[in-house]
Amino acid sequence: MLQLQDVSKVYRTDEVETLALNEVSLEIGAGEFVAVTGPSGCGKSTLLNLLGLLDAVSSGSFRFFGEEVSGYGERRLTALRRDRIGFVFQSFNLIDDLTVAENVEVALLYRKVAPAERRRRVAEALEEVGLAHRARHRPKQLSGGQQQRVAVARALVSRPSLILADEPTGNLDTANGEAVMALLTSAAKAGVTVVMVTHSMSHAAEAERTIRLLDGRVVGQTRLAA
Ligand code: ADP
Repeated sequence: MLQLQDVSKVYRTDEVETLALNEVSLEIGAGEFVAVTGPSGCGKSTLLNLLGLLDAVSSGSFRFFGEEVSGYGERRLTALRRDRIGFVFQSFNLIDDLTVAENVEVALLYRKVAPAERRRRVAEALEEVGLAHRARHRPKQLSGGQQQRVAVARALVSRPSLILADEPTGNLDTANGEAVMALLTSAAKAGVTVVMVTHSMSHAAEAERTIRLLDGRVVGQTRLAA
C-alpha cells in the first residue's frame, strides 16, 4: 500500500518557489485502481513522479508498500523502482529498432531473469494483451492502440506491485482506449496497484476511486459505487 502523510513538494529556481504539492495525505491500497484528475499545473505529474520514486518528497512521510522512503537516496530509489514499478506513458515510449517482443523483454534485462524464463514471460505477457501474433513486428507497424498494449505488456512482464500510467489513453481512439482500460482494470483485479493520471472523465469513472487535485491539494475523492 502507498501512504502519503502531509507530503509537500517544493520546486525552487533562482527566482521562484513553487509549491507543487501542498501537504497531501493519501492512502492507496494494494490492488486498488485509482485515477488522478485535475487541471493543468495542479500537481498530477508531481504526484506521479513521487509515487514512482522518480523524485523525492520535500517534506512529509511516504511509505511505499510498508517502507518509509522519504529519506532514501537515488540508488535505493532506483533499485526499488526497478523491482516494484511498471510505467505506461501517453506516447507509448517503445524503442523503434526493437521488435515488439524485444521491447517487452527489455523490462527483464535489468532484473537478472534467465533467458529461457525471459522468453516464456514475454510470450505470456504478449498473450495477455492479445498481441502474441505481433511479437516479431516493429512498433511502427502497429496501430497506436496496439503499441499501447505492448507498453502495458512491458509494464506487466516484471510483475510489479505498482503500475503508474500517465494519460495512457490520451492518444487513443475510444475502442483502443477501452481496451487499455480493460487491461489496467484486470491488472488491478490481479492485485497490482494502478494509479492513472487522466483527463478523460469517462475513464476516470472506470477506476475504483478518483482523486481530484487543485493547486497541489486533494480537493475531492469519488469512489465507484460497489
Ligand atoms: P500537472 O501535471 O497537473 O500539469 P505538475 O505536477 O506538472 O502539474 O506541476 C505542478 C506545479 O509545479 C506547476 O506550477 C509547475 O509549473 C510546477 N513544476 C513542476 N515541475 C517543476 C520543476 N521541475 N521545476 C519547477 N517547477 C515545476
